[in-house]
Amino acid sequence: MSGSNTELVEALHFGEKMERSLQLIDEAWRTHGDGLVIADSLGKDSAVIWHLAKRVSPKIRGFIVTTRYKPRETKQLMREKVAQFPELRVFSNDSEQPEARYSYDPDGCCFDLKVLPTRQAVQQMEATCWVTGLRCTEGRTRTDLDETEERDIGLVKLNPILLWYEYEVWKYIAIHQIPVNPLYAEGYRSLGCAPCTAIVAGGDERAGRWIGTSKCGGECGIHTKPLLVTTT
Ligand code: SF4
Repeated sequence: MSGSNTELVEALHFGEKMERSLQLIDEAWRTHGDGLVIADSLGKDSAVIWHLAKRVSPKIRGFIVTTRYKPRETKQLMREKVAQFPELRVFSNDSEQPEARYSYDPDGCCFDLKVLPTRQAVQQMEATCWVTGLRCTEGRTRTDLDETEERDIGLVKLNPILLWYEYEVWKYIAIHQIPVNPLYAEGYRSLGCAPCTAIVAGGDERAGRWIGTSKCGGECGIHTKPLLVTTT
């Protein structure tokens, strides 16, 4: 974790973090207007981000990237949320894919099923700023992020709850009684596609992702690949 992040994660209390997150989204909304879009993964962190964004402005739009391998519970939550918020658009890559590619080429599978639709979403919605639920205490790949990044020139990435602990996410969800994926009640801590997500114990929140592969505890690629390139 970068020095300043480490200090702030520990120094700020829950109320201060929440105000800071709201302020970051509010400033981005004032700057980017409709160019601001929320990336909603349908996980607990996205639930918080979406709720915070709607407090800033009910007009803020978002997108969900789904795949053929998302758990049934996640797809049900997606249907319910899109019905409630029509300003949430769904993107997916439904092209033919090799059988069970996730088992031998998870990077390629994630690239085709997650990165490509994310590029489509960002480009079709003409985003100039996309908002994520990344947190620097989640796992080994997320320790050195900043609240505001610009990996692609012309596309700001905002991580408004970067400094929140996992328990603070659940605290916010409980206080505001936000519906979440029922799979969390079974013990999952980080949710992805069904074949690549397992229940694990221990300190690393993302350790149950891609178990048994080189991607274990890692990233699908939407946060590491460029997004403003031609989609195919
Ligand atoms: S999480 Fe697994 S199933 Fe989903 S796109 Fe990535 S490799 Fe494929």
